[in-house]
Amino acid sequence: MNAQTLIDNPDLSALTAWLSEHADELDADGPAQAELLSRLARSGLFRVSVPEELGGNGQPVSQAIDVIAEVARYSLTAAFVAWGHRTFIEYLLASPNFELAQQWLPALLEGEIAGATALSNAMKYLSGIEDIQIRATPHDDGWRLNGKLFWVTNLDPKGYLVAAIVENGPDHPPSIALLDSRQEGLTRSDNLDLLALRGSSTAALQIDNLTLEPSQIIHPDALRFCPSIRPRFLGLQCGMSIGHVRASLDSISLRARQHNGSYLQPALSALQETLEQHTTALYEGVNNGLFATAPAELFKLRIALAELVQRATNQELEATGGNAYLLDKPTGFGRRWHEAAFIPVVTPSVSQLKGELAKHEDHSA
Ligand SMILES: Cc1cc2nc3c(=O)[nH]c(=O)nc-3n(C[C@H](O)[C@H](O)[C@H](O)COP(=O)(O)OP(=O)(O)OC[C@H]3O[C@@H](n4cnc5c(N)ncnc54)[C@H](O)[C@@H]3O)c2cc1C
Repeated sequence: MNAQTLIDNPDLSALTAWLSEHADELDADGPAQAELLSRLARSGLFRVSVPEELGGNGQPVSQAIDVIAEVARYSLTAAFVAWGHRTFIEYLLASPNFELAQQWLPALLEGEIAGATALSNAMKYLSGIEDIQIRATPHDDGWRLNGKLFWVTNLDPKGYLVAAIVENGPDHPPSIALLDSRQEGLTRSDNLDLLALRGSSTAALQIDNLTLEPSQIIHPDALRFCPSIRPRFLGLQCGMSIGHVRASLDSISLRARQHNGSYLQPALSALQETLEQHTTALYEGVNNGLFATAPAELFKLRIALAELVQRATNQELEATGGNAYLLDKPTGFGRRWHEAAFIPVVTPSVSQLKGELAKHEDHSA
């Protein structure tokens, strides 16, 4: 099977037509962002790879990665929002608190409320490079929370849920909690002033004496939950790189056809082949559970795909020439160039992963 043509979902074509029209606006904080989540939900993409009995299509997780890739081919802003929302759904599917999934899945699958993952703090805490940013103190049957989350995407002003790691003192492991935008004590900043992806509803959250009930606990032990969720968290995220490379390859192919650019063919074929290899390895590894026991293999793939994004974008620039610099030429290159700068920094960032791989190699030496 050709991994690049895994999905042939007719509903996605309406979405991608809308994304082609609004990609620059989404990147630049324009009004289309208000419609983004409902457009994504209407395509049915949040149901992909969710179990059938919970409202999904029951397909392997590779299919969810592939739909995120198809979205990223048109807009990385949309793909990142789709990733955050779909990953939040994955947390509820993996939660032992089944009531939480029952309560929220229907609204999440319909895009009626936004799901946001603030777990970069958790991932960095597990790597020993950041302290937990939210502290819990016991209160009645539950807790009071205080702290700050510096980066959270998909904080739809109409309403959102956030998954975050919470410090519970020296005698208990940190937990993963669900915070609800309707709760008192949760304050959203304005959208952050970003280089790109400005329509991704990315803001900071201040948490002051927020009451957390036991029913809001996604998992009582973040140290067990995070490694178990990581293959899907990271696998779904790789969809963004795959889609971004596909967009550059589309653009290079067009130039190759337009300008007798047969000299472009070897570079194009090499990029296509590498993308195909990485995509196939990723899809097989997430579907067969390899990355649960061999996380380093997934880390290497994430780094390799991030490098491929940079190579493909550079090749696209060479193939496009001066037109890449003209804002009145609708090449999409300028947006993709900015978007590409996001790929290495999203958690787990390429720096974080290289640090983890270095530790892994030290241990196995
Ligand atoms: C547009 C945007 C949206 C975002 N949305 C979200 C979101 O929804 N949820 C969320 O949780 N986060 C989000 N983030 C945060 C993001 O995912 C990363 O956490 C953040 O950008 C990277 O952290 P950092 O700046 O500390 O850089 P890092 O890449 O972590 O690196 C910073 C420094 O630490 C060093 N370092 C890194 N790893 C190691 C290591 N293992 N050992 C030693 N040194 C190391 C590096 O050398 C570097 O100097 C978002 C970020 C952006 C830009």
